[in-house]
Amino acid sequence: MRPREGFASFWMSTMGPDCDTAPQKRRPLAALTREALAGELKGAGFAPYRARQVMHWFYPKGAGDFAAMKNIPAGLVGYLDSHYVCRSSHMVAAHDSGDGATKIQIALADGETAEAVLMEAGGHVTLCLSCQVGCPLGCLFCATGQGGYARDMDAHEIVEQALHAQSLLARESRVSNVVFMGMGEPCLNLEAVLAASEILNAPWAFHIGARKIAISTLGDPRCIESIARFRLPVTLAVSLHSAHAELRARLVPGAPATPQETVEAAWRYFKSTRREVTYEYVLLAGVNDSTGDAEALARLLRGKRAFVNVIPYNQVEGLPFERPSSHKVAGFVRSLEARGVKASARRSLGRGVHAACGQLRLARPAGRLK
Ligand code: SF4
Repeated sequence: MRPREGFASFWMSTMGPDCDTAPQKRRPLAALTREALAGELKGAGFAPYRARQVMHWFYPKGAGDFAAMKNIPAGLVGYLDSHYVCRSSHMVAAHDSGDGATKIQIALADGETAEAVLMEAGGHVTLCLSCQVGCPLGCLFCATGQGGYARDMDAHEIVEQALHAQSLLARESRVSNVVFMGMGEPCLNLEAVLAASEILNAPWAFHIGARKIAISTLGDPRCIESIARFRLPVTLAVSLHSAHAELRARLVPGAPATPQETVEAAWRYFKSTRREVTYEYVLLAGVNDSTGDAEALARLLRGKRAFVNVIPYNQVEGLPFERPSSHKVAGFVRSLEARGVKASARRSLGRGVHAACGQLRLARPAGRLK
């Protein structure tokens, strides 16, 4: 990670927000598309083209307040200041793991906390986003799932994670890929996830290619249909973790469908979009990592266009699972490949700061626990 000059990994809570914290009546600018802002400015008597200028300052230039928008007349700055805020949330900490990953902790307007992870590897800057505060699905191996659920995030809160992440990067660097694999299940908050994806993709905002936006889900078949109908050709990732119905139901108690039903839904998605589906498979030592498990997975995916992302388990304190040896991980991948399934093992980044897959936790202020 190449930080902007003067940036280091440190707690930032004493610095306060980039912008004023939002009073109720002022809306976060990240909640609006450029077109919506143009319409609102026109209604208030300002030239609609000003929306283009405002959004250029806000996204590519990363302005944290309206006064910094140099070519915006004072009257419009005053109007913007009284109707909108640049950030409804603020970054309270950024922990650099030293391996290319930075965990970002963000305080939301109501005092809840979200986490996102910025990863720099292989010439890409990937941002792992959260879409819920916590997660209600309770996957047994996941720190988020074991920590409870507070609420869904609004689209602007998702977009603001990207704004905070971008502020940590060197000026010539930008977020190139986004994965919805942080806290929460995207299919439980799909409207906000898709609205945020529109802004992440928009040329006037983050300009991230649609195929470089991956939505990772446990695979509710109706939700997969909705993602297939979405205007943008985003990438679908389905979290499977076991091909055995009984084991998957135990590991993923909130799974909305059996492995068979999930794979069939993903196959319909492929047939209607021609976009290859990635299957996520968290490999847990002695639980789902045997040759028999690989054979069952290969059988389930037989004849399907698919790629399996094998994720060696990242240790979570207090949970009874272990990471398989690298030898075991490589063997599992080889077993899949030998049966005609494309697969690779994911490199784990961010373990040093509990930012790796499955390690994000719901941090809640005292007195707010349900
Ligand atoms: S793995 Fe995903 S769906 Fe499961 S509990 Fe964790 S955040 Fe929720």
